[in-house]
Amino acid sequence: MSKPRMSGADIELFERLKRDNKILKKQVAALRREIQRLDYDHIDDLVKSQEESGTTEEKIEYKSKNEREREQWVCFECNKGILKLVIINKPNEKIYFRKCDNCGKRTRTKKYTKDVKGIE
Ligand SMILES: [Zn+2]
Repeated sequence: MSKPRMSGADIELFERLKRDNKILKKQVAALRREIQRLDYDHIDDLVKSQEESGTTEEKIEYKSKNEREREQWVCFECNKGILKLVIINKPNEKIYFRKCDNCGKRTRTKKYTKDVKGIE
């Protein structure tokens, strides 16, 4: 097989493509470095925002759990305080009552079982 003859224009095109290729390779390498750097920055930001949102969510959850409990045990007398569970150990049994932390309202004492719920 004989080598295809290249005209002057073909050689010029070939040289230009070779030159372009070299430039593009350099640019690709530069862009790769840039992307890597940007990725690290981006990951850093993601981690930061993740940490921040994580704490916020925990706070919100803690608050809402707290609020749920408060709503459940809000004093029916003053409507401000919380009826807190007071458990008393007796020799043979445990008894409990609830006492408002605002007005001091006390509920009747009852026998305590593990099913009794409330804020201690
Ligand atoms: Zn009260």
